Amino acid sequence: MPSFLEEVRRRRTFGIISHPDAGKTTITEKLLLLGNAIQLAGTVKGRKTGRMATSDWMQMEQERGISITTSVMQFPYKERMVNLLDTPGHEDFSEDTYRTLTAVDSVLMVIDGAKGVEDRTIKLMEVCRLRDTPIFTFINKMDREVRDHIEVLDEIETVLKIKCAPVTWPIGMGKAFKGVYNLLTDTVHVFTPGQGSVVPDDIRIEGLHSDEAIALLGEDMIAELDDEIELVRGASHEFDLDEYLRGELTPVFFGTALANFGVRELLDYFVEWAPAPLARETDARAVDPEEDVFSGFVFKIQANMDPKHRDRIAFMRVCSGTYTKGMKMLHSRLGKEVKIADAVTFMAGDRSQVEEAISGDIIGLHNHGTIQIGDTFSAGENFRFTGIPHFAPELFKRVRLKDPLKMKALQKGLQQLSEEGATQLFMPLNNNDLILGAVGVLQFDVVQQRLRDEYKVECIYEPVSVTTARWVYCKDSRMLEDFKRKAAENLAMDGGGYLTYIAPTRVNLSLTQERWPDVQFRATREH
Ligand code: GDP
Repeated sequence: MPSFLEEVRRRRTFGIISHPDAGKTTITEKLLLLGNAIQLAGTVKGRKTGRMATSDWMQMEQERGISITTSVMQFPYKERMVNLLDTPGHEDFSEDTYRTLTAVDSVLMVIDGAKGVEDRTIKLMEVCRLRDTPIFTFINKMDREVRDHIEVLDEIETVLKIKCAPVTWPIGMGKAFKGVYNLLTDTVHVFTPGQGSVVPDDIRIEGLHSDEAIALLGEDMIAELDDEIELVRGASHEFDLDEYLRGELTPVFFGTALANFGVRELLDYFVEWAPAPLARETDARAVDPEEDVFSGFVFKIQANMDPKHRDRIAFMRVCSGTYTKGMKMLHSRLGKEVKIADAVTFMAGDRSQVEEAISGDIIGLHNHGTIQIGDTFSAGENFRFTGIPHFAPELFKRVRLKDPLKMKALQKGLQQLSEEGATQLFMPLNNNDLILGAVGVLQFDVVQQRLRDEYKVECIYEPVSVTTARWVYCKDSRMLEDFKRKAAENLAMDGGGYLTYIAPTRVNLSLTQERWPDVQFRATREH
């Protein structure tokens, strides 16, 4: 039996970032396939097989062909235990993605070789930068006619401001794609097409100038490759583990996720180089993953993952110690001890009960409305993990009921949906409006549909004159009271009970900020 420390050190917890359509879903499937977590690729998302897709909400996801859910997949690979946290690709659900990135220790960035660096990738990289998250890069779709690879590397370096250290280099592309060449070991990994749903044979040729390689590629192609590789070595950086761990340099791999090629080469290095669980900050002290006393935080709440269990799951990152079935934990926001008997994990789509989970793992807690995003659980020590943000919404709507007698159900539904981060709720101090805030417009549709399905409430949206929101803080309680009186018209409580300034215009916000220099107007709310 490996010891606790050995178990922690073999964990690799990561997420994938990419622009929609770059191949995140496809590569996720191939990673699971390599980890023996699924027999056949194509079972990751309901939209491809219909397997999980029976709830109405999932149906909406299907119809729109987008991925709303975040799930967690654990699989062993070589000596390691890999935890892959999936993130919604659609930008309307970017808040979820940002918060999921607070629960990983490193990231895999997937880039479409034909498109290079795209908008969403730029945004997500900014988020990774906040914590200097180490990044692996996979440049995908080598089975197509893609852009000049050196140009793409250059774009990553200049636009994303991270040094590139190619580890593998593609041999040809499109119909002439022959495989990848490992720049560190002088190995040719030979591509055999049409292996999408199985693990490809690991065909290797040692030495680019070996007889075997010459027989496969021909003298001309090798000469061309020699020139290219010389150029690449000159133009890029050598891999340096420390620079990678500091988030300053990214190892780069090429391949085609669809044909399942180049992914194994990536994963082999990933499990070696990617960091084991990292320490996490709390308001009291940093918590080391190798501490044996349990702690964790909730980064995501998800309803209806599985139509058979119409409940809510709170995803918790274990930050230290061991979760064991039936253990008691301190729910620090409520100051209450709770017994957790039935945490779940998500092994490639199937739920199974976890008996034990340790630092770096993710567990799912059944949430009956008491758990909020950002909540800390511990073995008794009273601290709270920091750095799990709520972002000020950019879009606002007033909610109106079709049936006024359903007010209670509406309030309950909105409260719960805001606690799980599906939307943000604002209740003005001066009137009884219920105002919803969102980062992306699709969030409104999800809320409307879930209110109908889960709370049996029909609501409609009306425009409301709110442009932006800021969370209000002030150390001086007299001044705060004064501010509350004078600005009451534009103040609201949010779903978590925090005072918020809801500004009718940006000009109004800046004037108010000028008028109240000692009041803080924050664009993010942190737990
Ligand atoms: P996501 O939106 O990032 O999750 O992207 P998907 O994995 O759903 O892929 C988007 C599209 O690109 C799908 O039609 C995939 O079949 C296709 N695709 C993914 N990887 C490759 C690849 O390596 N080569 C080619 N030709 N197509 C790919």
